Amino acid sequence: MPGRILIIDTVATNRIVLKVKMIAAQFVVDACSSKAEAIRIIAANKPDLILVNLSDATEDQHSLCHDLRRTPETAAIAIIAVGVADTSRARFAALDAGADDVLPHPVNDALLLASIRSLLRVRSTSQELFLRESTSRALGFEEQKNGFDGAAKVAVLTPNPAVENSLVAQLSAGLRSTINVLPPADLLKSEGEDAAHDLFVINAAEADSSHSWLFGLVSDLRSRAQTRLATQLVLVPKDKPEVAAMFLDLGADDVVPDTCDAAELTLRAKKLITRKRQHDKLRDTVRSGLNAAVTDPLTGLFNRRYVDSHLARLAEQSRKSGRELAVMMIDIDHFKTINDTYGHAAGDNVLVQISNRLRENLRAIDLVARMGGEEFLVAMPGASVKDARLTADRLRALVNTTPFALGDDQPAIKVTVSVGVAMSGQISAERGAMSKICNQADQALYAAKSAGRDQVAMSKSAA
Ligand code: GH3
Ligand code: MG
Ligand code: MG
Repeated sequence: MPGRILIIDTVATNRIVLKVKMIAAQFVVDACSSKAEAIRIIAANKPDLILVNLSDATEDQHSLCHDLRRTPETAAIAIIAVGVADTSRARFAALDAGADDVLPHPVNDALLLASIRSLLRVRSTSQELFLRESTSRALGFEEQKNGFDGAAKVAVLTPNPAVENSLVAQLSAGLRSTINVLPPADLLKSEGEDAAHDLFVINAAEADSSHSWLFGLVSDLRSRAQTRLATQLVLVPKDKPEVAAMFLDLGADDVVPDTCDAAELTLRAKKLITRKRQHDKLRDTVRSGLNAAVTDPLTGLFNRRYVDSHLARLAEQSRKSGRELAVMMIDIDHFKTINDTYGHAAGDNVLVQISNRLRENLRAIDLVARMGGEEFLVAMPGASVKDARLTADRLRALVNTTPFALGDDQPAIKVTVSVGVAMSGQISAERGAMSKICNQADQALYAAKSAGRDQVAMSKSAA
């Protein structure tokens, strides 16, 4: 994984030793000794990750971390604090200043590299999500305004709940939320909302010398659809950095020495939960953006863009199953007159009401879309000619029998529609087969209009 790393340390030998290690691991490296230099290099070279020695008395690097976190342009740069005294208090101070991870002195190389890989992985996910979100916004799709609502969903995974009482108590006090305690086998069996969590906490500090089943658990959680988006915090024995490195490489987000106190544990847990929620929010924005791209904002029906790709899929399905597909074009009669007489808002109102009537009176598998203006398309997989004709008549009656209410001070108005129906017959595999069928439905619609409106016409191919 390529990446650009900035080393900040006042001691030249420290810088050189770290730089050699990072270059050996194929990173592009800058190094400097002061806060002022660091700020200049960060602006010019935009590093992905910063290794900063926080033990320095002369340079206030805690405040540098703080500033980087608070500035939008640099907030996503990963920070690893090194040189810190190996106490929970010193680690807390570093994490609180904004470091993503703290590796006390002397640094274990395997753990350092695993931590860098883990943070860069998360950073590229965040960047990708931010990129997609900004594309969504550039396309004009609204940003979701909802904040992080609901309590964090946290579970301690253990085959033996009684053993973890103190861990659970610390987490529930610190996070002020209920902590689930689950045997891993139960979690992996559960589905949907039950399996969805913000954070899993796994205690690998108590485990005997073999950690292999916990290694398996971490990578299992990372690979399953239900659990892969949750963050993972693993408590590891302080004297086994190689075990900690392995957990990071298998997909854990944070490895915490078992000597940590409640404040450090809570702070680390909170950071992971916040990151997970942020990623969820970005994903939601992208999803709603995609949704907006294929939906008509006035009626909530699918739009033409969706129809183009969905019809091709329906055609393919129909070809494989040998079942016919009916396509109808529905157009409101004299809609212009409605606009001219009652105003554009009244016209919109009629469009919305017709859309609702159509949607509520078709099967879930039928496609209903607004093709533009006052024209709708309905596609019915598996419908026979008879089904199609009956449905078209039913939809027409649904409009012309119940007048449309426009508001308290106006009388309800009568609206009618004309419908053209075409059947797919045996759909050929060639491209454009579907648009031929849509054209036939269009011609049938034209015939229904010419014959006096408020009626259904079947395409010749369907008759
Ligand atoms: P016909 O019976 O032949 O279909 O006549 P028509 O008046 O329904 O058809 P025409 O194509 O002449 O007019 C369609 C009108 O629909 C013109 C256009 O201003 C109006 N229209 C298109 N989109 C909207 C919309 O989103 N809201 C409203 N209120 N009117 C719309
Ligand atoms: Mg019309
Ligand atoms: Mg029209």
